[in-house]
Amino acid sequence: MARTDAMVLGAGIVGTSIALHLAKRGMSVALVDKRGPGEETSYGNAGVLEGNTLLPHPFPAGIAAFLEVVLGQTAAVNYHIGDLPHTLPWILDYRRNSTFENRKKFAAAMRPLFARAVPEHEALMQEANATRYLRKEGWIKVYRNAQDFDDIQHELDLAREYGLDFRTLDTDETRALEPSLEPVFKRAIHWPGAATVSNPLAVTRAYAARFSALGGVVVTGDALSLHRNGKTWRVDTHEGALDAEVAVVALGPWAPDLLKRFDIDLPLGIKRGYHRHFKPQGNKTLTRAVVDTENGYCMAPMEQGLRITTGAEFADRDAAPTPVQFDRLLPKANELLPLGPQVDEPTWLGRRPCFADSRPVIDRAPGQDGLWLAFGHAHWGLTLGPATGRLLGEMMTGATPFCDPKPYSALRFN
Ligand SMILES: Cc1cc2nc3c(=O)[nH]c(=O)nc-3n(C[C@H](O)[C@H](O)[C@H](O)COP(=O)(O)OP(=O)(O)OC[C@H]3O[C@@H](n4cnc5c(N)ncnc54)[C@H](O)[C@@H]3O)c2cc1C
Repeated sequence: MARTDAMVLGAGIVGTSIALHLAKRGMSVALVDKRGPGEETSYGNAGVLEGNTLLPHPFPAGIAAFLEVVLGQTAAVNYHIGDLPHTLPWILDYRRNSTFENRKKFAAAMRPLFARAVPEHEALMQEANATRYLRKEGWIKVYRNAQDFDDIQHELDLAREYGLDFRTLDTDETRALEPSLEPVFKRAIHWPGAATVSNPLAVTRAYAARFSALGGVVVTGDALSLHRNGKTWRVDTHEGALDAEVAVVALGPWAPDLLKRFDIDLPLGIKRGYHRHFKPQGNKTLTRAVVDTENGYCMAPMEQGLRITTGAEFADRDAAPTPVQFDRLLPKANELLPLGPQVDEPTWLGRRPCFADSRPVIDRAPGQDGLWLAFGHAHWGLTLGPATGRLLGEMMTGATPFCDPKPYSALRFN
């Protein structure tokens, strides 16, 4: 039987960053996962550190856009119609949160976290000897229709109000940055405040290695075994029982499985997403991630090849994979950047853990002494892992938090 000051349940980018921050503050910490660090959702994302994020992705507005989505004619979104009895209440809540007024509330609540996203990663990368994965070239969103670009002018006005750095580009200016892109788009925006990583799994592993170097222990175990043992929390690991004064639930999409055992019911939804890797065609490649806004996919240059990630799939978390969005997006992707052969491996499926207001929960667990929560980072878990680690580390050790954590409260759903 081992005993530590803290245990962190879930070794995705969020849990690993928290464990590292707690260890840096002098606590003895165990990081518990049933797999290796970073091997689930934190493995397959598009690798964008979206420090520029201001507004969340809205649910499609207008009846035409809604029907397009429901009838399965868009590459950006897919539905499992049979799962709607479970998923619809959350989708409707998400739709309610998609008004511009509510999205502006997200901007105000989340800007302090996003503003710290890239610097906090850089700081951890420096101490974890992982800066070789970081590219500080921003990312690019392309707009095939001038109308789509005109339609977001109010969002760009808001970005100016917040002082965010961006550059609007025409086709030639964009191709000066990314010469392999074909001129199938009219406009683009370059967001230099974002960064990208060439291997998200390697980044989480590097943070886990740094955590171990500081004396932290990474253990294999099932978080669902968590229970109270007198005044401490106990979890069963492959190396035996582990006790800790405090426990952090950082289980991403799986957090509700544990929390329901403690009668904590937080309305987490899931937006599933897929990736495939492609070899380059000749010397055609990218230096940064590029999003085809109309078709909802991202092309990201990775160590494994050009990674194409899909938009959202609304389905039960554990439903069988249905990567049909690739049938719809691949012709479009090939127009934008001719792809080489697909790397021979199964299509990857990940699950974005999302609350309907698109904000994470970073807070104490209601009614459970010594239990903390950090999950629900939606489209931005990679981006916000280290900033979350710092914030929760400060909250748990009684330091002054670098930003007001109230917008990430677990009680906001009551
Ligand atoms: C297609 C796609 C593209 C994305 N692109 C980006 C992007 O470009 N930038 C960005 O910032 N974000 C992106 N995201 C979102 C990002 O990947 C997630 O928000 C983030 O990975 C969530 O991290 P996490 O640590 O909360 O969860 P996870 O990485 O899923 O970690 C949770 C951990 O809990 C463990 N676990 C679960 N159950 C148990 C149990 N019973 N016992 C022990 N351990 C358990 C799992 O093994 C896992 O390691 C993308 C997501 C997808 C799907």
